[in-house]
Amino acid sequence: EPMLRLDGVEKGYNRGRVGEILVLRGVNLQVHPGEMVALVAPSGAGKSTLLHIAGLLDTADVGTVGIGGEAATGLGDRRRTALRRRAIGFVYQFHHLLPEFSALENVVLPQRANGVPRREAGTRALELLGEVGIADRADHRPAAMSGGEQQRVAFCRALANRPGLLLADEPTGNLDPGTSDQVFAALERLVRGEGLAALIATHNLDLAARMDRVVRLDKGRVVTP
Ligand code: ADP
Ligand code: ADP
Repeated sequence: EPMLRLDGVEKGYNRGRVGEILVLRGVNLQVHPGEMVALVAPSGAGKSTLLHIAGLLDTADVGTVGIGGEAATGLGDRRRTALRRRAIGFVYQFHHLLPEFSALENVVLPQRANGVPRREAGTRALELLGEVGIADRADHRPAAMSGGEQQRVAFCRALANRPGLLLADEPTGNLDPGTSDQVFAALERLVRGEGLAALIATHNLDLAARMDRVVRLDKGRVVTP
C-alpha cells in the first residue's frame, strides 16, 4: 500500500476568471514506505502546488489524495489538519527553527504539542540528533550552528512525531555543494532508518540520481524520465 497516492489530481488558480491558469492537469503518483522519490521540475511547473496538495495544505480541484491508505479528499478542515499532523513531516529550503530555543528543544516541542511526555520527547530528540551526527550541538541555539547543522535539526524536528510521509521542498537548496552532500546523506539516513516514504523536490540532479526514483513534472503531469 502506498503511503502517498495522488490520482487524477488537477489544480488551477483563478479558474473561470481573468488570469486563469491550470497548473496540474492529471497527476498520478504513488510513493511507498521506504522509498525516496526525487521530484524535479523547472521553476513555475507546479512543484510547490503539488507538494501543498500532497501535504494537505491545499486541496485539489479534481482527483483524490490518499495518505497511508486513508482518503484525505473530502475530509473537513479539522480532520485534514489532524491527519496532516499525525502522518506528514515537512522540510523546507529554509529551516524555520525557533531562534530562542536550543536544537534539542526545537525537536522536543512538536512532540510536547502532540502529548508526548517530556522525558520520552527528550530521548527521542537526542536519538534523532545523534542519527544525523549533531548530538553534541543539542544545547546550541540555531544562531550558534552552521547552516548544515541547522538544516539537520530541521529534519529531526520534521520526523519527531514519527510521520510516515516526508515532504521536502529543496531541502539543500540554501547550502553550498559540499555541505549539501553531507546534509543530504543525513536526510537519507533518517528516511532509511525510519522506513519513511519521501518525496523530495530538488534542482540538484546529482542528489536526484541518488534517490530510488526520479519523477518530473511536465505540462501538468508527472512523467518518469
Ligand atoms: P513551482 O513551485 O514549480 O515554481 P508553483 O506551484 O509555485 O510552481 O506555481 C505554478 C504556477 O502557478 C506558476 O505559474 C505560478 O505563478 C502559479 N501560481 C501559484 N500559486 C498561485 C496563486 N495562489 N494564484 C495564482 N497563480 C498561482
Ligand atoms: P501548527 O501546529 O503550527 O498549527 P500546522 O498544523 O498548521 O502547524 O502545519 C503543520 C505543518 O505544515 C508545519 O510543518 C507547518 O510548517 C506546515 N505549514 C502550515 N501551513 C503552511 C503553509 N501555508 N505553507 C507551507 N507550510 C505550511
